[in-house]
Amino acid sequence: MSHPLRCRCGTVQGRVAEPQRAMGRGVCYCRDCQAYAHFLGRAADVLDVQGGTDVVAIHPQHVVLTQGLDALTCISLSPRGLLRWYASCCRTPIGNTARNPKLAYVGLVHTCLEGAGVPIERSFGPVTLRLNAASATSAVNERSHGVFGSALRFIGTMLGARIGGSYKRSPFFDASSGMPVVAPHVLTKAEREQLSARP
Ligand SMILES: [Zn+2]
Ligand SMILES: [Zn+2]
Repeated sequence: MSHPLRCRCGTVQGRVAEPQRAMGRGVCYCRDCQAYAHFLGRAADVLDVQGGTDVVAIHPQHVVLTQGLDALTCISLSPRGLLRWYASCCRTPIGNTARNPKLAYVGLVHTCLEGAGVPIERSFGPVTLRLNAASATSAVNERSHGVFGSALRFIGTMLGARIGGSYKRSPFFDASSGMPVVAPHVLTKAEREQLSARP
């Protein structure tokens, strides 16, 4: 059974086919994810009280966008940073990918998985990983569990995608050129520093 994907305003819609194939679900407290939520002006609904972003990692081939592709856009916080995809219509984060399409994963941000009202838990299970807890805005007491299993799933999925060529099936990259479907806007140093200066 698939899980619906939807931006806040409903322009971008699709689904995650085979959510049971997800590599893991974690909350990332890193400063980049916090800066990104501020960039979008969506910190209040993207970040939890400790500054964490709830993310589901999955092979991009399972992400199917059925409408609103024109609204899909991406930025990067630095020249080598992740590509951070979002819906430009309402600035809902969609997911983060590596710059290299051969690394077949996308970290789907919870906001696009909640828009249609189906609970994330039902499709992807509970949060098991707590990443970069040192940069949380307050102490994180929950521990990660099942790290080894998640790491194995992650490595297995990416190696399989690379060897089998399934990494080419991604809504975020052009299959023949390997280029992102939208040229990323890389934030300038000044833009980036402005975000970091936020409380
Ligand atoms: Zn939207
Ligand atoms: Zn992060």
